[in-house]
Amino acid sequence: MNYNSKFAIVTGGANGIGRCIAEVFLHVGTEVAVIDVDREEGEEFQGLYPDLRFFHGDIGDKAALEGFVKALRRPVDYLVNNACIGRKGLLSGCSWEDFEYVQRVGVTAPYYLTSLLLKGNLLAPKASIVNIASTRAFQSQEDTESYTAAKGGIVALTHAMAVSLAGRARVNSVSPGWIDAGLYHKQIAPGEHSAEDHAQHPVGRVGKPEDVAGVVLYLCGDQAEFITGENITVDGGMGRLMVYHGDFGWGLEKNN
Ligand code: NAD
Repeated sequence: MNYNSKFAIVTGGANGIGRCIAEVFLHVGTEVAVIDVDREEGEEFQGLYPDLRFFHGDIGDKAALEGFVKALRRPVDYLVNNACIGRKGLLSGCSWEDFEYVQRVGVTAPYYLTSLLLKGNLLAPKASIVNIASTRAFQSQEDTESYTAAKGGIVALTHAMAVSLAGRARVNSVSPGWIDAGLYHKQIAPGEHSAEDHAQHPVGRVGKPEDVAGVVLYLCGDQAEFITGENITVDGGMGRLMVYHGDFGWGLEKNN
């Protein structure tokens, strides 16, 4: 469980869940490199921690990933593929370009970054890779195809990489449910949640970035050395709740 003096990469670590993961690593003595498109927040974050290096770049851009890996000063103990975006889906006419860009950020970049580390001999012994997926890999709302496809992709990529990297690195994914990422944003305020928002979760509340970061830390540590190719859901039990209209106080109110 000794994270001290280890080295972690967190993509999309300038804000939200990624920033919380990066902070949790820094607090246990791990050096961190963050790549993010948000230069302002990334530079502000770097100014707060001597053990944090910020790289400005879009992980959907091959050259940016190559430049980022070239600038690394040491082999990577923990790679957290966190950054992702959504550009909606069928009902709002998500274009070829937008759909393809989401897959590049959400699936191709985690693959290519891992591949660059492998080729550059930059995976430290007993390395751990954690891919941030989503419960949306397993259940859907309408008009979410670009994001949902990327999340399904990263769950499958996780077990494929776990098998390819056997003996080199463990690879797991974490699937958050509803997490209030605004708690780690300057630009986005934390959400105002109703009693019902909290109560629909079997644990009784909406999630916090720390709920995800704790599981990432666990998966990176030696205590998880028998876990690879696995996905851990962190959703307060919401994905396990069976909802039938009329049962146990649940009712369907359809507005359209
Ligand atoms: P967020 O939007 O709050 O933060 C994402 C960070 O990634 C930002 O700093 C952003 O600038 C950066 N980023 C976005 N595109 C990038 C790119 N192309 N290259 C480099 N950096 C980029 O997101 P979040 O809510 O903290 O989500 C983090 C991860 O958790 C994502 O993979 C997301 O899909 C997943 N997730 C979030 C929730 C939730 O409820 N918040 C639920 C399930 C899964």
